[in-house]
Amino acid sequence: MNNLHTLVVGLLWTCFAFSQQPPTTNTHHHCHFEQMMDTNKKKKDLFEHWLKNSVTKYKLTSENEVETILEIPIIFHIIHQGESKGFGTHLGTDRIQEQIKQLNIDFNTTTLNYTGQGDSYPKVRIVFRPTSSYPSGKKMSDVGVNYIDSSKEGWPKGSYSKAFIEKTIKPSTQWDPGKYLNIWVCEISAGILGYASFPIAEGMPQTTEEVSSDGVVIRYTTIGSLSKPYDHTEEGLKFGMGRTLTHEVGHWLGLLHLWGDGGCDSDDHCNDTPSCSGPNFGCPDNRYSCGEEEKIGNFMDYIHDACMTSFSPDQYLRMVYVLQESPNRKGLINREETSMDAQQEETPSLEPTVFPSPVQGDATVGMTLEQDKTYDIEVFAFDGKLTWATKIENSISGHTQIRIPSANFPPGIYWIAIRTGTTVKTVKLSKT
Ligand SMILES: [Zn+2]
Repeated sequence: MNNLHTLVVGLLWTCFAFSQQPPTTNTHHHCHFEQMMDTNKKKKDLFEHWLKNSVTKYKLTSENEVETILEIPIIFHIIHQGESKGFGTHLGTDRIQEQIKQLNIDFNTTTLNYTGQGDSYPKVRIVFRPTSSYPSGKKMSDVGVNYIDSSKEGWPKGSYSKAFIEKTIKPSTQWDPGKYLNIWVCEISAGILGYASFPIAEGMPQTTEEVSSDGVVIRYTTIGSLSKPYDHTEEGLKFGMGRTLTHEVGHWLGLLHLWGDGGCDSDDHCNDTPSCSGPNFGCPDNRYSCGEEEKIGNFMDYIHDACMTSFSPDQYLRMVYVLQESPNRKGLINREETSMDAQQEETPSLEPTVFPSPVQGDATVGMTLEQDKTYDIEVFAFDGKLTWATKIENSISGHTQIRIPSANFPPGIYWIAIRTGTTVKTVKLSKT
């Protein structure tokens, strides 16, 4: 799809990429991509122009590189109505862990529907890591989850309009969008399942409103995974398996809908996604539109969660490029967690290393300690679950090594967080 007919970009360069609608409103979804079609065409063109040549060049120069992991710290702001934890909008942490697991699986099974086309693409993995401390440096009791009781904020109960979310909820709860992917989870009005902000191109200015809008908003009933949907109602089985977040994070990393929010003349600027005349709903068979056969299953369609399977290689490449080069995305990757209060920050003398990695048996973490301090050493799994922990008290200054009993861990990616005072250093461990 190479048509130059461009889409959309929302007012304030926030493209409200409205996602799948509940089944009753399938026929007229509310996609602000379409409503805002011409309002920011100049900015949209600038973004695509910035991407067009660079992505191709990037693809060619990145071949045969060793595998790189791009890690994004994420924080879920759960806006609840004061229910007991685990009920209604007050989602339990187990659900968030399921969602994070699904998000990571989805971003790492990119070429399922596009066999043979992704072999020459850079070996880059996008991984989402739940943050383990508040911006103040204080340790979070629920990793990756910031609970916000709406009544304590003085907000009304019920569902929230986009205007209320943008003007009230986001500005008062957002964590630095240059350091975290903010995900707000609440009840959204008008049957909207989710929407996302769009990245910016090099040299593109941002207003205060655009900065405070940065992130993803999703309806609480979409939180889940393929194995543990939000619930087993008809809607839960259609849109409760966590794929709304996958779709919206796709927008957040610069992806457009497959149909380019127009007809056959519109484009999503990815060469390996066939032209299509509009969204698919439900769980249909492959179909012909715009003279090409569509491959049903792409995350950037409106189909049911269970029928989604993959991003295309070009979509993935676009996201990888945006993540590494967009001015409001590149600061997030592989960032160590430290206190944002420089006055309180202690000397970052830890410099942890882990070896061997990848490891089959036990691993060892080496680090440099200061005198008479307390160090918490915690190992988190891919989904944010605390897997193992230990503590060093009354430390003696100098280099030390800690054995991590990873022989007992299931294979996967783990993060080892070493915390002292307000400083947190993380190091990755790959268990095979
Ligand atoms: Zn969308």
